[in-house]
Amino acid sequence: MIHKKFGSFSLSDEIQKALGVLDYEIPTEVQERVIPMALEKKDLIVKAKTGSGKTAAYAIPICEAVDWLENKPQALILTPTRELAVQVKEDFTHIGRFKRIKAAAIYGGHPFAIEKTELKQKTHVAVGTPGRVMDHIRKGTLPLSKISCLVIDEADRMLDMGFIDQVEEIIKELPEDRVTMLFSATMPQAIKDLSLNDRRVPVQIDIQEDSSVTADIDHSLFITSEEDKFELLTDITIMENPDSCIIFCSTKDRVDLVWERLKQMNYHPQKLHGGMEQTDRISAIRRFKRGQFRYLIATDVAARGIDVDDISLVINYDIPLEAETYVHRTGRTGRAGRKGNAISLATPSQDRFVRQIEAFIGFPIKERAGYEKSCVAQARLNFDKKIKAAPEIKQLKSDQLNKGIMKLRFNAGKKKKFRATNFVGVLSNLEGMSAEDIGIITIQDTLTYVEILNGKGSKVLEMMSHTTINGKQLKVTKALDKY
Ligand code: ADP
Ligand code: MG
Repeated sequence: MIHKKFGSFSLSDEIQKALGVLDYEIPTEVQERVIPMALEKKDLIVKAKTGSGKTAAYAIPICEAVDWLENKPQALILTPTRELAVQVKEDFTHIGRFKRIKAAAIYGGHPFAIEKTELKQKTHVAVGTPGRVMDHIRKGTLPLSKISCLVIDEADRMLDMGFIDQVEEIIKELPEDRVTMLFSATMPQAIKDLSLNDRRVPVQIDIQEDSSVTADIDHSLFITSEEDKFELLTDITIMENPDSCIIFCSTKDRVDLVWERLKQMNYHPQKLHGGMEQTDRISAIRRFKRGQFRYLIATDVAARGIDVDDISLVINYDIPLEAETYVHRTGRTGRAGRKGNAISLATPSQDRFVRQIEAFIGFPIKERAGYEKSCVAQARLNFDKKIKAAPEIKQLKSDQLNKGIMKLRFNAGKKKKFRATNFVGVLSNLEGMSAEDIGIITIQDTLTYVEILNGKGSKVLEMMSHTTINGKQLKVTKALDKY
């Protein structure tokens, strides 16, 4: 199959440039099917597996359609988890970077007042979990009048988590004249039955679960007793010696337990589950993405939909009781054409869950015998060497984008009637500057933050110390928090 390039869609230069920086050259299949239709404002119901690139499939056409001048949110993205909300917000920021698109993430556990302030300022795209979004709608802090696009991401997960009623409630609040796109890895009946918009008939897009779902992942299984599980786990890690590994457990208590024991054995593991503080969860994902540690112990709630590139090994310490969960968990490895490795542990009484998974994925999972102790002892040397060495820190795509960005802080904002256009006007006229060098502008009551791109921050800082805006000489400093 000959793949088109992104250049073949009619996308603006700003968006194409951002895709270039992100190293998105060839659209994935779901993007190839969704982007043209979304650009034509069709309603879509899209079934595609995890890791197929669904976020960009909707984020690219939405960024393309955003009217920068409009201050109220134009697109609303609903996600089942907080982590995904944060990640999708970041994806919008990256894809919309050169269009200076502002996305806000709103989710339970995050201070409401901060979100309220953020939503009051220019926000093009709001990304949030259903409960918190509904809160904002009820309190009138999320204006809906300009919403022209609704995305329901991971709809099947919303259903599992019991959010579907809230999603339907939100749908009823939105302007009818809007585009709706629903994305899901699976299509249970309750999702098909959702009434998205009475006036419009959605186009169904079904990206076939081609062999790539599983063919690029090596699936195997150990049958073991509960007592032997932990030792087997350590044997697996020693034998496989992965650069990055997620170990899934069924509950947060079990996550804590495995984490504690691996910690004692100097694995430097980190954990991720719903019982943790929000900031700790987000920070754990960030650091895992960067490769700052190798072992992440997680529950499904925390790990679903989280996009971490290139995980070498997924271990199901507890076999999932639902076949779909198996697909999502193992979909964390073997992404983007790399070879993945998924190893599951099951007790003899869990045999029926294994059969259900096999029926669902359509092929048997290869059963393995335990390792010879002598082999494990031999492999231990290399394992110890790696575990003692500092992991190699990966450059994130966002790091690349963030490189060369300096955020400047001006001591005036809305109260003195400053607008983004005032800043763009003056900054783009500075010597050596053009509008393309200006990133996101955030105007608050008494302060304004402006991102200067392409390494031009220091020069602009210097020039603005003796250049007026709206006839006023503002105090300008480098902002401390880059994000
Ligand atoms: P899904 O939502 O379908 O699970 P994501 O949207 O999280 O998948 O994308 C999976 C990964 O693929 C992400 O790391 C994303 O940055 C990357 N990606 C998406 N589209 C492309 C593309 N066209 N080229 C290269 N990488 C891509
Ligand atoms: Mg996704």
